[in-house]
Formats: sequence, structure tokens, C-alpha cells
Amino acid sequence: MDIMVIGTGYVGLVTGTSLADAGNKVVCVDIDKNKIDNLKKGISPIYEDGLEALIKKNISAGNLQFSTSVNEEINKTSIIFIAVGTPQGDDGSAELKYVFEVAREIGSLINHKVIVINKSTVPVGTGTKVEEIIRSELVKRQLNIEFEVVSNPEFLKEGTALRDFQIPDRVVIGSENSWAIDTLKKLYRPYVSSEGQLVIMNRVSAEFTKYASNCFLATKITFANELSRLAEEIGANMDQVKVGMGFDTRIGHQFLNVGPGYGGSCFPKDVKALLHTAAQNNIDLKILKSVTNVNDEQKLVPVQKLNKHLKDLSGKKISLLGLAFKGDTDDMRESPALTVIDYLLQKKAVVKVFDPAAMENGKIIYKDKLEYCENAYQCVENAEALIIITEWKEFKSLNYEKIKKLMAYPLIIDARNLLNPGHMRESGFKYESIGRN
Ligand code: NAD
Repeated sequence: MDIMVIGTGYVGLVTGTSLADAGNKVVCVDIDKNKIDNLKKGISPIYEDGLEALIKKNISAGNLQFSTSVNEEINKTSIIFIAVGTPQGDDGSAELKYVFEVAREIGSLINHKVIVINKSTVPVGTGTKVEEIIRSELVKRQLNIEFEVVSNPEFLKEGTALRDFQIPDRVVIGSENSWAIDTLKKLYRPYVSSEGQLVIMNRVSAEFTKYASNCFLATKITFANELSRLAEEIGANMDQVKVGMGFDTRIGHQFLNVGPGYGGSCFPKDVKALLHTAAQNNIDLKILKSVTNVNDEQKLVPVQKLNKHLKDLSGKKISLLGLAFKGDTDDMRESPALTVIDYLLQKKAVVKVFDPAAMENGKIIYKDKLEYCENAYQCVENAEALIIITEWKEFKSLNYEKIKKLMAYPLIIDARNLLNPGHMRESGFKYESIGRN
């Protein structure tokens, strides 16, 4: 199939590249010229395992192209994905201007029957608005072209995005149009092992499914994080409790890891956007309100633990391992590291940082306010405390004896429970973690 993907971020790039790899002809479009220039050379703008190699492979195979303009190719395709950002607006609602801009562009350019597939996370009813915008542009052009707007929310996780797209748990298709449903079924058939994984529903339900899923996961993490505070008081170990809970198939093992609160480009904004939708509909979602409050508190837990040991942070060297909101990605959007860094800077600490993938993003945000290190060992030199804020696997297997010698004071705040408390204390560290003594 000939496909256009508009918006070449984490979702659009993974979608376009994966669809090209399945033998489709794909054009990925983005307004960011620098991004597109690099992509044309096979350089990925994001850190995602295996992505760059797959981009290069499919450019060479002639299946994948990149462009800054929708104009040239839009009438060679009958399937258009919208995958632009929907960041949080000032009032907590999802900012839809990028989606609507793309809808206007599509309506002002198409000359033949198309399916417009919305992959961006958008509040219920957005599909209808996109449809109205495209129709009004066609009316201006005095054209009566058949088109269908489908909701097809994306559930990939950064860090395992390619695998998640290519081996999805399920594919949600929100449409009541049989032509569109059949086309999407054909498109996704290479990725599912049974038709049952293609979950067909109406458009509003598909839009709502995405928010319901993310909000549930945010709630699950937050539930474990809140319980971790009680666990510390009563002498329970949340790492063990989570295993004991997780074997119950009704609960499951995932998303029970305690830590410094959820972050990233999705959960924070999606929880707030759903609360906004609820308020507009006079529904008080009390659980979700608590989730955001508890999560905001949780982001401060690492610095509260730091304060137990170091009263005055002014001028003290504090090292931070991790910037990204989780391991295996370079994405720093809403990362718990931001809360910790902002606090440390406000207390006039000297903040040294190292992240295996997110250093460039850190430099864009903090410029010369931080000391950027080349590796973990340089990062801990002369530090009075080390905070592990991102769960990069490599932080687990560092030489902590060497680290102890390099630090000015052997204090570790392990906000991801990567290390063994007994071993760390036996090795002479003052050691704090989450939900276990
Ligand atoms: P992103 O910010 O990484 O990328 C969005 C891209 O859209 C940017 O490159 C931007 O330049 C481009 N863009 C904006 N306006 C454009 C226009 N008019 N024409 C062409 N390109 C334009 O965003 P993302 O993380 O890929 O997320 C995209 C959507 O998918 C969001 O709604 C998000 O909530 C949702 N989502 C994200 C993830 C994730 O893990 N990142 C997972 C599932 C769903």
C-alpha cells in the first residue's frame, strides 16, 4: 500500500518505518527540516533500539522516503496517518492545534478517496472535528471526495517501540466504515497472530480506550508508589510484595515497580487530559485526581531522602545518574529527573549528570547549569551524594567499590531499587531506596 505518515516523532517514525519494512511504500512527513534532513541520510532523531538500522534498510530498499511537505506525495497515497504531538495545553487539556493543522492541510490538498488514520492520542470527539475540518476545506474547493477518519491509537512503549508496533498486544481500530475497517485489517495483518487481536469499535470508544489504558497504568504505578511509603514504615519490602501480588493473574507483574513517580510524554498529559474531559462533562474522576497528586509528591521522594542525610545542599556536588524518564530512551519529557534537578539547583547544589542516551536533550534544557559527564565514574567524582533516577541496566553493574572511592561522601539514593540494600550497606555506603529498608 502507499502510505503517508504526518509527524515523524516517536510514534510516526516507528509506524512509518515498520510499515515500510512490511513492504508498503511510505512517505514520512515532518515540518522539522533538520529532522527530515537527517532522516534522509538515515540518521534517527531519537534513541530507539534497532530503529536507525531499519530506517537505513528501508531507504535503500526504496520503501521509505522523508519529506518536509505533504503537497508532493499526498495524492499518490490513499492512507494518511496523523501522528503529530498532542502536548498538554495550559488548562490541562490536550493541545490539538497540530492535529487540526494537519486536517486542514489534508482537506486542502486531497483529490481522491482517502482514509485518514489518527494515531495521535486525542480526546473523544476529535475524530469528528478532524472530519469536519477536512469536509469544510473540501467544500471551499467545491469538491465532494469520499474520505473516512479512523481512530487507531498507538500503544507502543518508548525503549521497545519497534517490537511493540510489530508484535502488538492488540490493535484498536475505531471506525464503523467497512471499507476503512477492511483496509486497516489488511494493513495490520502482518503484525497480529489472530484476527481477535484486531479490536474493532466505534471511533469514540477507540479514542477513549487509549486514555482509559494509560490512566489505568498510571494508577497502577501510583498505587504501588503510595504503598511504598507505608512499606517503609512497617518494614515490608515492596520488591517482594510486588512479586507476591504479580503472580495473581488478575493483577500481573507489570507496572508495580516502585520509583520516583511516572513521567514521560504520555501518562502525565493523558491523565490531565482525561480529567479535563471529565470536568467538561461534569464528572468528578476522584481516583485520577489523587493519582496526579500522589505522583507529584512521589517525584519529591528522592530529594526528601537526600535531605535526611545532607541538610544544606548549597555548593555540594550531587551526582545524578539518569536524565531520561525511563531506561532505554532519550526522552526527558516530564522526567522525574527534572523535578530533582530543579530542586537541587534551587538549593544551589552543583549538579553533575550522566545518562547513556539523553545528554543532548539535557543540554538543550539546562544549558550551562549542569556539569555534563562522559560516564558514570566521572559523574560521581567528589560527589557528596549519588541519586540514581533512571533505571538504565548499566547502572546496576557499575563498579560500586570504585564509586565509593571516587565519592566525597558515600551516600546513594537509589530511586529505582536497582541495587541490593544489604550489599550496599556492607560495602560502606549510606543507602536509601524506595519501599524497602
Ligand atoms: P513527538 O513530539 O515525538 O513528534 C511529533 C512530531 O510531529 C514532531 O516531529 C513535529 O515536528 C511533528 N509535527 C507537528 N506538526 C506537524 C505538521 N503540521 N506536519 C508535520 N509534522 C508535524 O510526538 P510522539 O511522542 O511521537 O507522539 C505523537 C502522538 O502519539 C501524541 O499524541 C502522543 O500522545 C501519542 N503517543 C505517543 C507515544 C510515545 O511513547 N511517545 C506512545 C503512544 C502514543
